[in-house]
Amino acid sequence: MLYLEHFGLTDAGKVRRNNEDALLIGDGADETLFVVADGIGGFEAGEVASSMTVEVLRRLGPDEPFGDAIREANSRILAAARGDEKLSGMGTTVVAVRFGGNREEPRAEVSHIGDSRAYLLRDGTLRPLTEDHSLVAELVRSGDLTRAQAAEHPQKNLITRALGAEDEVEADNMVLPVEAGDRLLLCSDGLSDMVPEDRIGAILKEHPGEPEAPARKLLSTALDAGGTDNVTVVVVDVREREEPEEDASGGTREMQAVSPPAPDGRASRRRSGSARSEARASRSRARRKRSRGFLAALGKAIRGLAIILVVAAALTPAYLWGSSRYYLGFEEGEVVLYQGIPYSIGSLNLNREAERTGVKESEVDDPYRPPIKNHKLYTRDEVDRVLQDLGD
Ligand code: MG
Repeated sequence: MLYLEHFGLTDAGKVRRNNEDALLIGDGADETLFVVADGIGGFEAGEVASSMTVEVLRRLGPDEPFGDAIREANSRILAAARGDEKLSGMGTTVVAVRFGGNREEPRAEVSHIGDSRAYLLRDGTLRPLTEDHSLVAELVRSGDLTRAQAAEHPQKNLITRALGAEDEVEADNMVLPVEAGDRLLLCSDGLSDMVPEDRIGAILKEHPGEPEAPARKLLSTALDAGGTDNVTVVVVDVREREEPEEDASGGTREMQAVSPPAPDGRASRRRSGSARSEARASRSRARRKRSRGFLAALGKAIRGLAIILVVAAALTPAYLWGSSRYYLGFEEGEVVLYQGIPYSIGSLNLNREAERTGVKESEVDDPYRPPIKNHKLYTRDEVDRVLQDLGD
């Protein structure tokens, strides 16, 4: 029988005061559900968006579709942001995996929005299960950047899809067959930006035992590399347990093998115990739990028939998420405010004109001239201050 072992932890990192990441590690209504969310927004708004998303997913039942929970989280974030100016503009990424299928065809279902990632380590090879919804990922897909350039790109944290950005949001969903020995990793960009993929794969391989060791090693490696962002790591191992051999009638193992599978997870839960433990390190929050045999528990939940990869919907240029989303430029002798970023992908502009300021180019002196010419990126507050200074 297959069962899951997991370990997850999150850390604010070495630079940021708040931790805007949130995680769910098998302690929701569906014990096979694991989630990482990375909040975006000033002050503590990002934290609100990511934890709202985790709380909605925490209540998701094994037979309920991901899409419903994603849409509910999206509308809650939007409603909260509309009702409170401090939360305005908040959003979050999400990556979630849950396990199901049946005894013959165990599966994992992966869903994501933004640049939080899922990876699969199988037979010693690490492969990404998600494609970032980010500016640089789009530029790589369009051939404008190489992967190596993307990793160094100053706008690598701008994401093109987020919960809380628009009324309609669509996650990318994937269903993949799983097998004993599989190791899944969910992480926020605080790991994937700081630690190269080959190093991530090596760490996962070097610690084949309990998932706690590789999870802690990944976190410490990200912190040692600078820890400039919040870091969240969840490692889930798919393990195989021998069928129960003990039998009052003295039945042999062969007899057990042909007997019908347990109708639910009770037998395996007794065997594994509901061992929950809290583990705390000085810099990290961590929880682990050995979950019951998920296949027996979810035997009825058959999701999908084959690998389904829903390819990213068309990129929406109006919403590019990051810390800076405004810039100024000179056009026809006038200072113009743009929303977005000064890039285009093919014929698609990643910006729109937000305001003709009425400030003449000839009236603009240093120190304002170079940042306008260079399209320096600002937050809304910052750009308002610049415009105020220009107007005075
Ligand atoms: Mg992050």
